[in-house]
Amino acid sequence: MADAVVILVVAEFPSWPLPVSRMIREITTNSAEETISFGRTLAEMLAPPKLVLLRGDLGAGKTTLVKGIAAAFEAAQEEDVTSPTFTLIHEYRGPHANLYHIDLYRIDTQRELDTLALDDLRSENSILLIEWGEKFARFVRERDVEIALERTGESARRIVVSG
Ligand code: ADP
Ligand code: MG
Repeated sequence: MADAVVILVVAEFPSWPLPVSRMIREITTNSAEETISFGRTLAEMLAPPKLVLLRGDLGAGKTTLVKGIAAAFEAAQEEDVTSPTFTLIHEYRGPHANLYHIDLYRIDTQRELDTLALDDLRSENSILLIEWGEKFARFVRERDVEIALERTGESARRIVVSG
């Protein structure tokens, strides 16, 4: 993490009489390991229940980030977190939260989405980490936190967390 820079910005959105302030965290990592470490630091802001959207192209590092998040919740070893591209949902149970890592890349219709019954996974104790969730407007509306990852170099990834 030596080269990592963390910038904390509190942006005020004028919506009087209820001012909304949102915290945005931004970092550029330079290896998969740094992204995993950053994922570990996010655990505090991801206390359940949460619906988290993970945005970014294929290979951006979404699944890599989940390795760190799952490890921080003692729900899985980093190496046991793999892409749910074909399995669609991976469940990792920890002492303080149940994590559901979901990949909607191959899900295109509402009917297909319904078969996953994601609502049944939501509970006081659950954290849904959804890749490609922005394909469905509902998740964009309902998400508590959004994490956007962008490939800015061979091993460089810009990660912006807002929520
Ligand atoms: P996604 O889930 O967004 O498709 P993955 O996490 O599965 O992406 O894959 C990211 C790939 O990029 C992995 O092979 C990983 O080793 C590599 N990589 C290289 N640099 C980084 C970085 N800084 N952060 C995350 N992954 C990185
Ligand atoms: Mg992935």
